Amino acid sequence: MKIAILGAGISGVSLARMLAADGHDVVVLEKSERAGGLCKSRQVDGFTFDDAGGHIMFSKRQDVLQWMKDRCGGDRHLVRTERQTKIRWHDRWVPYPFENGVGHLTKEAIVDCMEGYIDAHVQRRLGAPCPENFGDWIEWRMGGGFARHFMVPYNEKIWKCDLRRMSSAWVAGRVPEAPIRDVLSSAVGLDTQGYAHQSVFWFPEHGGFETMVVGTVRDGGFELRCNAPVENVRRDGDAFRVNGERYDLVVNTVPLPLVEPAFEDIPDEIRGDIRELVPISLVNVLIGVKLDEPMPPLSWIYLPFPEQGPANRVTYYSNYSPHNAPAGHGCYMAEVTHRGELRADRAFARDVCRALDAAGILDADRVVTIDHVDSRFAYIDQDLGFDARIGRVRGWFDTSGYITFGRFGRYEYHNSDQCIGRAMEVREHVRDIADTGRPARPRFA
Ligand SMILES: Cc1cc2nc3c(=O)[nH]c(=O)nc-3n(C[C@H](O)[C@H](O)[C@H](O)COP(=O)(O)OP(=O)(O)OC[C@H]3O[C@@H](n4cnc5c(N)ncnc54)[C@H](O)[C@@H]3O)c2cc1C
Repeated sequence: MKIAILGAGISGVSLARMLAADGHDVVVLEKSERAGGLCKSRQVDGFTFDDAGGHIMFSKRQDVLQWMKDRCGGDRHLVRTERQTKIRWHDRWVPYPFENGVGHLTKEAIVDCMEGYIDAHVQRRLGAPCPENFGDWIEWRMGGGFARHFMVPYNEKIWKCDLRRMSSAWVAGRVPEAPIRDVLSSAVGLDTQGYAHQSVFWFPEHGGFETMVVGTVRDGGFELRCNAPVENVRRDGDAFRVNGERYDLVVNTVPLPLVEPAFEDIPDEIRGDIRELVPISLVNVLIGVKLDEPMPPLSWIYLPFPEQGPANRVTYYSNYSPHNAPAGHGCYMAEVTHRGELRADRAFARDVCRALDAAGILDADRVVTIDHVDSRFAYIDQDLGFDARIGRVRGWFDTSGYITFGRFGRYEYHNSDQCIGRAMEVREHVRDIADTGRPARPRFA
């Protein structure tokens, strides 16, 4: 088949490579000057940075992890790191996840957290139903102490809203439940570790996370057209037309609100739903520093409190690969979310640095490079109407003959490994189409 893929983020290019390997004639249309989307990286003054905040390579799926590693040239071109993540809790460093680091809090806060955790545990055993909104879910799952001392301030900082207007559905399967024995062990000072699937990660030695995209495009067997925005998509009998050119199949990975105006045949009510799929944006402040001694061996840290400045997370990016900074230097990336209201400039980036200095993270006098990147589509606003809205949108696409997937192409809160996993499922769906004609719905729907 001749297949158009809209968007050359990792979703688009990974699928293109797979479909080309199956013998299809694949064209990828990308609006910007090169492939990569949220996985792009950049060079600034000899430093390497990722555009959309710190990215790491990991996956629960071994086949996907191997696929990612292969695109980077295999293990010998990757740096393997044992994750070291901490929370800057007032003037203390607390290991992350917070439930596993509770023993590092003040004695009063440990009692608050344990009392609430045990109470929440008992209430759930007695049948307390899972709340629909995220704010109440935090109390239901973690108890009042954990809520007050970390979960609520941190999540308000990242989501920029009252947590009770967010749905709790998105956390299911994403935030693993710490066994009560682990939390009790941590409370009495025994070390435990959470999030085992992320305890080790990999990162390209050179070129930042984008190296994986470059390796996907290279010898991918498909045609990548850059500076080629999708402007018009429509059916033409059994086939489709994209910007006037005929294709047998169209797969979208472009954020739905950006591509909706191009699709001629989306019904009005579905257009209305797509326009309400509001993104949360991210300013990533890129910071290069001169070092007299090595950086602390941290992967990234969380900053839950407003007095620590606007950043919610800081990546110790030159720890991912020593080639991310010139000799004698190191680099950080500080992430600040917003809902479209923030106009970031150099002065804002400098303010973020000063706040990090005040919070004891870096020395602002040692900063030699500062820059920032604003990504409009970074996180999904999963408000209480989100599930129903996205259900209708996916339902229309899945029965329309088009295929749509990707972080914002399907509004699934996916990391790049999950996007690649989805691409593998879309490949199976395209095989079904090639073998049997068009099934009623994709198997992944
Ligand atoms: C802060 C943050 C941290 C993350 N950390 C990790 C991590 O540690 N590990 C990990 O694996 N993943 C991580 N992710 C997730 C990862 O970035 C995404 O899952 C992945 O990059 C999404 O790829 P995509 O192809 O679906 O979408 P995108 O990357 O958004 O690609 C969409 C493409 O469509 C293009 N486009 C837009 N409009 C048009 C148009 N009209 N016509 C044609 N093309 C168009 C865009 O230019 C873009 O290239 C993180 C994301 C964020 C925001």
